[in-house]
Amino acid sequence: MNESFRAIPSVDTVLRSSAGQAAAERFGHGETIARIRDLLEEERAAARQGSRLRDPEALGALALGELEAGWRSSLGPVFNLTGTVLHTNLGRALLADAAVEAAVAAMRAPVALEYDLDAGRRGERDDHLRALICDLTGAEDATVVNNNAAAVLLTLNTLAGHGGGVVVSRGELVEIGGAFRMPDIMAQAGARLIEVGTTNRTHEKDYRAALEGEGVALLLKVHTSNYRIEGFTSAVAATTLAKLARAAGTPLVNDLGSGTLVDLARWGIRREPTVREAVAEGCDLVTFSGDKLLGGPQAGFIVGRRDLIAAINRNPMKRALRVDKLRMAALEATLRLYRDPDRLAERLPALRLLTRSRDEIAALARRLQPAVATALGPAYRVSAADCASQIGSGALPLDMLASAGLALHATDGSGTTLERLASALRRLPVPVIGRIADNALVLDLRCLEDEAAFIANLDGLSDAGLI
Ligand SMILES: *Cc1c(COP(=O)(O)O)cnc(C)c1O
Repeated sequence: MNESFRAIPSVDTVLRSSAGQAAAERFGHGETIARIRDLLEEERAAARQGSRLRDPEALGALALGELEAGWRSSLGPVFNLTGTVLHTNLGRALLADAAVEAAVAAMRAPVALEYDLDAGRRGERDDHLRALICDLTGAEDATVVNNNAAAVLLTLNTLAGHGGGVVVSRGELVEIGGAFRMPDIMAQAGARLIEVGTTNRTHEKDYRAALEGEGVALLLKVHTSNYRIEGFTSAVAATTLAKLARAAGTPLVNDLGSGTLVDLARWGIRREPTVREAVAEGCDLVTFSGDKLLGGPQAGFIVGRRDLIAAINRNPMKRALRVDKLRMAALEATLRLYRDPDRLAERLPALRLLTRSRDEIAALARRLQPAVATALGPAYRVSAADCASQIGSGALPLDMLASAGLALHATDGSGTTLERLASALRRLPVPVIGRIADNALVLDLRCLEDEAAFIANLDGLSDAGLI
């Protein structure tokens, strides 16, 4: 007993092992010594039970391994093989290289965020984007806030706070997910909801009747991109609403949701209304997201009439919802790419992934199949499969994009074995996120661009003894 206690090394001996030194170098003395102390406590317990003890180098390596695991960020990159390109839970749009570079440059140095370099005095944050946004949308003026939920909240609060009436069709009172429900946002903004029409049909006369009521502050149109009512339906076009609104002297606000700056039909994706069209139809303000189809960082745009944007900018709530310099820089670089639509699909990752052809993805699946089969071993069967990808973020949910990938089946046919694989893939150095369907773990390869990194990452399965 005493003999084995004497065999336990000192903290200092473990610290002086090569792994101990490496740990101290990377994670600091304090952290390393604390881990070594815990490990030596385990060694003393092992000695009491007469178990075999580990040498200083092995203990140093354990300390290093634990510190590395503890430092691995839960926000590190993952492989999104879910088939949903703009996956809200996986951070939506990936930024274009130009946007990443602009954000990094803005992180490393002071920038003239609210400083007018020509005049040498205080400037405005929105000045960096205003001209670009107006040019791309045909709007008079523009501002940017934290996200589109904030854009809607701020717009409603500015134009209809203190109980102003907001007229909305019952067919457009949507829930967008993540606790964004139009009626709740309305209440938080201090506005009073005036519902018109029915779920499937709303007519011009419904809006007309509502406008005759007391205290109407604005008409709101919500683009219901995340669901579709089929059959006996009727909605009032924005151009018609714009005429009604103008005659009543009431602003018309259009929450476009995803909002695109270009017609996606050009790349074979079903068209969504563009922001430019909404502006041209006579909407006084249009709101939309930065990280959905637009393909930029999280942001919310409000574009439209100069006097209304000025009122929004005077609202103290604007200050609480503003965007920082990193995102301003990334947004500016992203918007600039739209100036050259011919090269947009190669430069903007969201569009590049959405327009990838099924054949290209199927060829990738065939190339990867042998390596994945080898990495998973005999407990799993790996086959190339047809998939259907989705745009995501509530955009065009019924429009599936023909795609391809790998279907992983448990050889024993058990759901538990399949779950174990899904879990092992999620614990890889770069977690792999697929989708379980029809007793298979499906890896849709539409969003996989770095093939070599994907294969190298699979080494982790045997290294960690996960499989
Ligand atoms: C997505 C969406 C929002 C919320 O936008 P975020 O940028 O996610 O805050 C609001 N309205 C509509 C119609 C949407 O589709």
